[in-house]
Amino acid sequence: MRIDSHAHGSVVNLNESPGEYITRCRRDGIDGIVLIADPEPLFSARDRLGSFVISVPIIDMDQAGPDEVRRLFDRGAEGIKFFLPKHAYGDERYFPLYEAIKERDGVAVFHTGYVMHDADYSSRYRVKLDDMRAGHIDTIERNVPHLKVLMGHFGNPYWEECWKIMWAHPTVYADVSGGTAIHRSMLMWREMFAPNGNLMANTLGKLCFGTDMTYFGAQHGVQPYIDFHERLFEETGTPPELRDQVNAGNVLRLFGR
Ligand SMILES: [Zn+2]
Repeated sequence: MRIDSHAHGSVVNLNESPGEYITRCRRDGIDGIVLIADPEPLFSARDRLGSFVISVPIIDMDQAGPDEVRRLFDRGAEGIKFFLPKHAYGDERYFPLYEAIKERDGVAVFHTGYVMHDADYSSRYRVKLDDMRAGHIDTIERNVPHLKVLMGHFGNPYWEECWKIMWAHPTVYADVSGGTAIHRSMLMWREMFAPNGNLMANTLGKLCFGTDMTYFGAQHGVQPYIDFHERLFEETGTPPELRDQVNAGNVLRLFGR
């Protein structure tokens, strides 16, 4: 079983029945997705595709208060996605949002590291890379202990920082979805998770398979991510039970499925 812990897409692009679509995804090796989207499209996807979708709405973290987080959980959110902050993720003004997620036993999903910009550098992407570093998750855990966190993109390019944070905090997990992570050398990743050939099960075992791909269209482009993870498992000598954890077990446990 494999669940994509970092998926996007709008269900309006779905040109086949939900049943047909889920069957096609399963054939391609994807048994479920953590869908990260704005609340309305997200919940309509959940309504059409049922338990195939784990619901993680995106909020504007500089506008929303904890009441909005609670309302989203009332509607079936299982986590909240944080992205494009005006201040550092570890800034105390955001703590009430994190507390509200913890109250509902949900997962705080963070974009960590570099954010793409568009061709004309529009103001929407006028953010500070530094505000989204994985190191801020350390501050958050010290103030909202045991908050369940999933760090997207492994802190790209601050890989080592991300590794340390997931090693240090028992409820913090990460994915290597999107961008350039899977295009860096396998030697680098092998050393990250199996330094000098010794597998560190307590960090590799906290990865969550993820792609950052757009679903519901004709193509989803997940195969290079599946290949990357399989090769990482091979090169680090990861045993089957740990592979299952990365492919699906961690996400199922985090989101209480
Ligand atoms: Zn994403």
